[in-house]
Amino acid sequence: MNKFSCEVCGYEYDPAVGDAEGGIAPGTAFEDIPDDWVCPLCGQGKDQFTKIDD
Ligand SMILES: [Zn+2]
Repeated sequence: MNKFSCEVCGYEYDPAVGDAEGGIAPGTAFEDIPDDWVCPLCGQGKDQFTKIDD
């Protein structure tokens, strides 16, 4: 699973960690996050995120 980065604020979503505040369990792929999830730092939607290639 790839990490994804917020283009607006630089927040990185790590699938191994998830997003506890946003209700995303560890081990959740970015693609499997609900479409109404928003960046925990700046509030932008998933369409503002880009994949980080390892
Ligand atoms: Zn952000």
